[in-house]
Amino acid sequence: MLGMNDRKEPVFSATMEEARELLRKYYGYPDFREGQKKVIASILNGNDTLGIMPTGGGKSICYQIPAMLMSGTTIVISPLISLMKDQVDGLDSIGVPAAYINSSLSYAQVELRIRKAERGEYKLLYVAPERLESERFLELLSNLVVPMVAVDEAHCVSQWGHDFRPSYMRINQLVAHLPERPLLGAFTATATDQVREDIVRHLKLREPQVFVTGFARENLSFSVVKGENKRDVLMRYIREHAEEAGIVYAATRKEVDQLCEFLRRQGVAAGRYHAGMTDKERAEAQEQFLYDEVRVMVASNAFGMGIDKSNVRYVIHFNMPKNMEAYYQEAGRAGRDGEPSDCLLLFSPQDIHIQKFLIEQSVGDPERQSQEYRKLQQMADYCHTPQCLQRYIVRYFGGDTAEDCGQCSNCVSPDLELTDITLEAQQIFSCVRRMRERFGMTLVASVLKGSRNKKVLELGFDSLSTYGLMKSRTEKDIIDLIQLLIAEGYLQLTEGKYPVLKLTAKASGVLAGADRVVQRVRKKSAAPAVKDVETELFDELRQLRMEIAKREGIPPYIVFPDSTLREMC
Ligand code: ADP
Ligand code: MG
Ligand code: ZN
Repeated sequence: MLGMNDRKEPVFSATMEEARELLRKYYGYPDFREGQKKVIASILNGNDTLGIMPTGGGKSICYQIPAMLMSGTTIVISPLISLMKDQVDGLDSIGVPAAYINSSLSYAQVELRIRKAERGEYKLLYVAPERLESERFLELLSNLVVPMVAVDEAHCVSQWGHDFRPSYMRINQLVAHLPERPLLGAFTATATDQVREDIVRHLKLREPQVFVTGFARENLSFSVVKGENKRDVLMRYIREHAEEAGIVYAATRKEVDQLCEFLRRQGVAAGRYHAGMTDKERAEAQEQFLYDEVRVMVASNAFGMGIDKSNVRYVIHFNMPKNMEAYYQEAGRAGRDGEPSDCLLLFSPQDIHIQKFLIEQSVGDPERQSQEYRKLQQMADYCHTPQCLQRYIVRYFGGDTAEDCGQCSNCVSPDLELTDITLEAQQIFSCVRRMRERFGMTLVASVLKGSRNKKVLELGFDSLSTYGLMKSRTEKDIIDLIQLLIAEGYLQLTEGKYPVLKLTAKASGVLAGADRVVQRVRKKSAAPAVKDVETELFDELRQLRMEIAKREGIPPYIVFPDSTLREMC
């Protein structure tokens, strides 16, 4: 029997060295990936653990190897019958005893497997969440020695995730039915705070160790191209990479068809793929791409789920996608073999309108809609940030990287330079703190500007020591700075209709004078002077934006950012 009574004790005598040995012996890999190491060590130390890694990051091994090192049978909750079968077949083939229980089995078969499990014949037992709805089934499991319950695709427990499964809410009943409280491991590629909180809450994780890793893909060079003719940029790039395979994503079927036609007329071996084609046509297109008969696949977002082509050298987004999750998943199909590859995003302000329209059409619930707008906003921010794009991505997904990548379009851009904005950052942080972290960025900016607007005066903020601290700047400048500090992880906006600015731990270091904030900014001389007519247009558009914001009850910057307005002029 396992001594599972006090799971904080080192009940597992296994060490990382033993874990690595299993990895070599059974899986044939020389070493763990960085993220796997942390997650496995945490589990072996007896902690409830939440591992967040991108798709393909290697989550399965994070629970399979600890399961092999513990006595008893680890129960794995997995949402799809096909996934379960793949995993069990895979384990079978390397000689790890495992089985699954799902609706494809008769009741007699289920009982047989559970009896075998009770005799300790399996290291892993995969269970479909729907099974947990049967009390009888839970009773059956109640005699098992279970050192760990591993919840794969754990975002299914959250309504904020993209595929909520009500039966995931029953996982806790399973845990309660077991004779000893097992360790809990949860695994997902979804990294948003809300989903993370839901996982911890609904699975009742105890003092969970959370690891977000593996989101950086060092072999990918990200670029954003703005203000140029998209077709020209596309053609130029494809000509320069004539021997290489790539994917071009476009937002609509019509655009896919037109682009594919355009490329073919230019003599490029292009194929197309979208949901409007027949199954047969799509299968053919996919085949041709896989076997390099077509070099360039022009596709809608329907393309990619099933493809596993490792030598895709570039992914070009002809339109900006609706959010960072979608973008990174699609761009991440480049360079799966680890070789250097490019991810280009061709941006135009029009893309924001297309995506806004699509959100309006597809999302009814207003709460949900404003969440989608916020994500769209963060996607647009990616297109406008002067910071390292790789860092922006990693930070978006909740990870932390210390260094710029040195290869994205911002890292290598000649019209960007470094400036120290520590002082400005300190002024903003102390103002947010003085206002008790209870207000949005517009009001914080008004206070720093020393504005005499009604709300500022009503709340008595004109008596704060930070009032008017940034008088010499425009409110718009201050808001831009605040947005930059959000993007860099010093400030956070809360969720909801009226997002409130909060300081993060990172800001404390700056306030204490220990850390400096150095930012990449566009060189003054490189910025084109704004003409008078444009200023007028700009103001008009801002006015329009305010009206939309009022009508929809969302903050104006969620409608679209100033940088977009400027580009529209
Ligand atoms: P996820 O569930 O996170 O999407 P998987 O567990 O399916 O990812 O693993 C993705 C791929 O990575 C699999 O082919 C797996 O064998 C491989 N892999 C996992 N860990 C390692 C490792 N340490 N070294 C090399 N390959 C690995
Ligand atoms: Mg997986
Ligand atoms: Zn970079």
